[in-house]
Formats: sequence, structure tokens, C-alpha cells
Amino acid sequence: MPLNADLHSHSCASDGVLAPSDVAARARANGVQVWALTDHDETRGLAEAAQAASALGMVFVPGVEISVTWAGHTVHVLGLNIDPADTALAAGLAQIRQVRRDRARRISDLLAAHGIHRALQGALSVAGNPALIGRLHFARFLVEQGHCRTTQQAFDRYLGEGRRAYVPVRWTRLKAALGWIHGAGGKAVIAHPWRHRHDANQQTALFDTFKDLGGEGLEVLAGPRAPARHDAYVRLAQHYGFEGSRGSDFHAPGAGHFDLGRMPDLPASLTPVWHDWV
Ligand code: AMP
Ligand code: MN
Ligand code: MN
Ligand code: MN
Repeated sequence: MPLNADLHSHSCASDGVLAPSDVAARARANGVQVWALTDHDETRGLAEAAQAASALGMVFVPGVEISVTWAGHTVHVLGLNIDPADTALAAGLAQIRQVRRDRARRISDLLAAHGIHRALQGALSVAGNPALIGRLHFARFLVEQGHCRTTQQAFDRYLGEGRRAYVPVRWTRLKAALGWIHGAGGKAVIAHPWRHRHDANQQTALFDTFKDLGGEGLEVLAGPRAPARHDAYVRLAQHYGFEGSRGSDFHAPGAGHFDLGRMPDLPASLTPVWHDWV
């Protein structure tokens, strides 16, 4: 039996809904043995998560999901096994959170122009961490106020790329993100490549650049419960010599494709990114 590793999850320190210790308990209950909390651009949940994981007997991997802009589109890069106290990493993440705050004000202004008022206050009221504001907080506010039926509808109508309240931003550069991750002793993993909006040529260039910068891993989902197109990422990981990572991207009970630890296994053909942490 392969280890049950879940190296991608969110708490209320970013846009998840559970406290870090409650994510830990749910992961343990679902049979997770190696667990990473990877909040967006934020490490403040990691101390609580580490303590809870150790009390529950799980191997804990401190992580973060960094917002990057590459070739005009957003790429999410996981930093795994990072030292959250690293000062360059902390300063870089603080910069991104400031970009998020500025964007939030502009999203709120656009929503106001469409008759939806006080959205910034609303998003902050559903956020567990006022220092980290994301589109999912606005989506939850829009649902709570009856403007949308689901958070997906909130993205389709207002928050998604090109929609009424979409504010394009430049996140950090790929090279900077990898520099922070490696400087903090971690491994860099490209998250959910199937969700990025680059075309095939751009994606090849992204993987080439990521490899050149010393990127270690690719998140893959393959097997009976994942769409066939995800097998392509297993082959790409083999081609580039990337290690494989496995994660649910859990945000909230009942939301998203996978609950904690309930994803297909990593294919045996890939070296697990966690191989030297267990
Ligand atoms: P942000 O990083 O603030 O731009 O928001 C991106 C986050 O929104 C993702 O990490 C998901 O948690 C969430 N999300 C939910 N549905 C969607 C969607 N349809 N498109 C983009 N993001 C979504
Ligand atoms: Mn998210
Ligand atoms: Mn992501
Ligand atoms: Mn995520």
C-alpha cells in the first residue's frame, strides 16, 4: 500500500473554511499519513497545523501555495517542506498579500458599479484572516447575500477571468517564487497544471523554464477517479524528470473534487516528492 499523502490543502488562514487543527483532524480521519497545509501566499496557519499533526501522528510538511504570473496567466506553485521563518520568503509573501488587498478594493469597486455594495466588508467578514483576501471570499459573500446560487456561479458571473468584476493582476515572477522556496529549504511543485490557462506551447515553455530554475515536482492526478487527460501530466513528469505530488486542494467539506486524502494514488512510475521526508 502506498502512503496516503495529501500535500495540497487550505485552512481559514487563506480561502479554506476550517481552522488548521480541524483540517488536520479531518485529514487524519480520512487516513492521511503525510499532510501539508498549503495556504495561498500565507504561512500563519503552519504552527497550529504542525502541532495538531504531531498530536495525531501524521508526518507534517509545512507548505505554501504561491501566486505567480507567467506568460500573462496565473500559475500556482507549491513550496513544500519550507521553513516558514525564512525572512526572504516571508517578505515575498507579504508583498503578494498587499497585491491581494489592492485587488480586493478594486473588485469591490467593480461590484459596487453593478449594484452590489460593501463587498469588501462582506468578503472580510467571511474571511478567517484579514491579511489574506481572495476571490473565494467574495464568492462566498455573493452567495450569502443571494446574488449567486453557488460560488461557481459567482466566478462565472463576476469573478472569473474576463467577467464583470475581474481585476487582472501581476503576481510574483516564477524565478522569484522558486528563489524563495529554495532559499527556505523547500521543493517547488507546479500545482494543478490542468487548471492553468496557458496554451500547449506556453505550457511546454513553462515546464522548460521551471526545470531550468531547479523546480522539483509536478502535481498529478491519474487513475480510475481522475479524467484521462490527467495521464498526460504523468508522462510529462516522467519526461522532465519531475517528482510527482499528490494533493486534494481541499478548501471546505463538501466542496471541490476531492476530500482530504481521497484522491487516486500517485502512479508507481513517479518518484513521490515526499520520498525523503518520511
Ligand atoms: P485568487 O487566488 O484569490 O485569485 O482565487 C483563486 C481561488 O478561487 C482558487 O484557489 C480556488 O480556491 C477558488 N475558485 C473556486 N472556483 C474557481 C473558479 N471557477 N475559477 C477560479 N478560481 C476558483
Ligand atoms: Mn483557493
Ligand atoms: Mn491553486
Ligand atoms: Mn490550492
